[in-house]
Amino acid sequence: MIPESTASNNPARGLEIKAEKLVDAEGMASILLRKILNKTTERNMWIPIIQLWVEGHSLDPRYVYLFFERYLPEFFAYLIPVNDEVGKIGVASKNNLRIKLHKFLKDRFPDIKIIRSVSHGVYTGRPLKIDLDSMIIPVGDAAGHVKASTGGGVIMGGLIARSISKIIASRLTEASTDIHHNKEVVRSLTRELDRIANLMRIIRSLPFQIIDKLFEVVDKSGLVEEFSKKLDMDFQYTSFSRAFLSPYTVVRLLLSSIT
Ligand SMILES: Cc1cc2nc3c(=O)[nH]c(=O)nc-3n(C[C@H](O)[C@H](O)[C@H](O)COP(=O)(O)OP(=O)(O)OC[C@H]3O[C@@H](n4cnc5c(N)ncnc54)[C@H](O)[C@@H]3O)c2cc1C
Repeated sequence: MIPESTASNNPARGLEIKAEKLVDAEGMASILLRKILNKTTERNMWIPIIQLWVEGHSLDPRYVYLFFERYLPEFFAYLIPVNDEVGKIGVASKNNLRIKLHKFLKDRFPDIKIIRSVSHGVYTGRPLKIDLDSMIIPVGDAAGHVKASTGGGVIMGGLIARSISKIIASRLTEASTDIHHNKEVVRSLTRELDRIANLMRIIRSLPFQIIDKLFEVVDKSGLVEEFSKKLDMDFQYTSFSRAFLSPYTVVRLLLSSIT
C-alpha cells in the first residue's frame, strides 16, 4: 500500500512514487541499476544456462550429479533428481549452448524425455561493491549476491537482502540499534562471496589434467564422505579452507597422492 502523498498517477509517465530508499531486486537484467547508477555486475561472468525438466533419468534420487565436461569449461552440467523418474538437467555455456546441450543429452542421457525447458543465466563473478548509504541499493542477483561456484543466490542473496532491509528499516524509523550489526553481516557475507569468486577464478584457470588429478586424489583419500557431512554449502570459502588446511586433511591428501 502506497500512501497517497507519496504516489501520483501521471498519464504520460505512469505511476510516480516518492521514496527515500529504493531497493533494486531486478535480477540478471539490472536495467534500472545500469541506467541510474551506471553500475552492474561483471557482465562477462553471466553464463547462459538451459535447465530442462526431464523424465526417465533412472539415477539414485538421494544424490545430485555433476558433470565436468571439457566442452563446458565455464560451468558444470548437472542432474538433480526430483524423484526416481523426474529430474532437472542444467547445461551452461557462453557459446553454442543448444549444440552443447544436445551433445550432453546424446552422450549422457540418450533416452531421456524432456518435459519443459527454461533459459536464463547464472552468475559466476564477484559481488558488486554496494554503498549502504546510497539512495538506491541493489540486492540479490542484481548485486551479484551469488556463489560463483554454483550460481546459487537464494540463501546468500536472501541473507544479505534481509540485513539490508533491516538497516533501511532502522534508518527510516530512526531506531539505530541494529545498524552496526547488520552492516557487519552484509560486509562478512559479501566478503565470503568475493572469496568464493576469487577461488573459482583460480580453479577455472587450472588445466583439465590438474583438475582431474585433484578429483582423483580427493576421491582416493576417502575424505568425500567426511566433507559432505561437515562442509557448509553456503560458506564455502570459510569451511573449505578450514577443512583443506587442517594438518589431518593435508596428510590424508598427501598419502593418497603417493599411493
Ligand atoms: C536454472 C537455474 C537454476 C538455479 N538453481 C538454484 C538453486 O538450486 N539454488 C540457488 O540458491 N540458486 C539457484 N539459482 C539462482 C537463483 O535463481 C537466483 O540467485 C535467485 O533467483 C536470485 O533472486 P533475485 O530475486 O535476485 O532475482 P530473480 O529471481 O531473477 O528475480 C528478479 C525479478 O525481478 C523482475 N524484474 C526485473 N526487472 C524488473 C523491473 N524493471 N521492474 C519490475 N520487476 C523487474 C523479474 O521479472 C524477476 O521476477 C538458479 C538459477 C538458474 C538460472
